[in-house]
Amino acid sequence: MNKYNICLLKGDGIGPEIVNEAVKVLDCVADKYGFQVNYDEALLGGSAIDAKGTPLPQETIDKCKASDSVLLGAVGGPKWDKLPGKERPEAGLLGIRGALGLFANLRPAVIFEPLKSASPLKDEIIGDKLDVMVVRELTGGIYFGERGRREADGEVEAYDTEQYKVSEIKRIAKVAFEMAMKRNKKLTSVDKANVLEASRLWRETVIEMSKDYPEVELNHLYVDNTAMQLVINPGQFDVILTNNIFGDILSDEASMISGSIGMLASASLSDSSLGLYEPIHGSAPDIAGQNIANPLATILSVAMMLKYSLNEPKAAEAIENAVNKVLAENRTPDIYEEGKNKVTCSEMGDLVCKALA
Ligand code: ATP
Ligand code: MG
Repeated sequence: MNKYNICLLKGDGIGPEIVNEAVKVLDCVADKYGFQVNYDEALLGGSAIDAKGTPLPQETIDKCKASDSVLLGAVGGPKWDKLPGKERPEAGLLGIRGALGLFANLRPAVIFEPLKSASPLKDEIIGDKLDVMVVRELTGGIYFGERGRREADGEVEAYDTEQYKVSEIKRIAKVAFEMAMKRNKKLTSVDKANVLEASRLWRETVIEMSKDYPEVELNHLYVDNTAMQLVINPGQFDVILTNNIFGDILSDEASMISGSIGMLASASLSDSSLGLYEPIHGSAPDIAGQNIANPLATILSVAMMLKYSLNEPKAAEAIENAVNKVLAENRTPDIYEEGKNKVTCSEMGDLVCKALA
């Protein structure tokens, strides 16, 4: 029997409530598909500040590194907003990404059939099914390049530089090609190779790498065109590969296609199979402790974990199907629609388990 060690970082606000429901669902699929999950818990963010005086205790890094994968709720809240930047809960999040070497960020743009009406896109644009995965490079490019200010022609000039090494492009491209192999063998690499030198190296490197993946259908699009195509013909995409800054913008655009923030999962991956999985939404302090948060983004993060880190794709698919089934009749308040049953956070977790059985 396969055994997995999962480190839980429940975090702040609604974090503990939504992670508890995701654990409930993970236990249900583990039972059904015959694998075992052991849990460890560690502190991150505000809860770590309160207990240990730092948003990222060393013990948390050690526990995450010792695990097969990490499931994170969300961090932050008004209680810690006045702290200086480096001491805030969000610094813990950046810190753990760095400590685990998470250079690849995966954000799906999915429309769940029962929630089609929440999407800002028209039905005919959505088509039968919409399921796009944006793979964004997270630790290089213009956000980390040389920057500064200098004098030029008697006035102030500012500059930021886009830099990528071949090795950095290769390792993110590998994640995207591997993902394409696990999905529909279709990959779109995004760049601005008509203008930027870093983009030309990006494109050359991706083409070189594609020789190792002859089954994957690869095409290249400029970023401006991609932004446009995402809203007029999103069905053409399956996996999108982008650098850091283009991915920042495109992944936000892509995720809003779904129209429901409480539904979207994400993953950050490293060179090893160790990944960190979390909902894209924040800690929602305004609704914390009321058992009304939508746990589905976290439950779907568990599905991503099963697919991309733990090699249990059948269990992952079962969760996705169960979520679709439950949504047909049941909604948490954030996605409530007249005529459906209004359910709590914990009831939603129970319903997904029941649909799995
Ligand atoms: P961040 O922590 O990334 O800065 P934020 O504060 O901008 O996030 P969120 O914490 O995601 O935003 O909350 C934005 C709004 O969405 C809030 O009103 C919150 O209640 C709501 N929200 C976020 N996640 C959920 C969820 N899982 N279920 C229900 N409502 C949610
Ligand atoms: Mg916030």
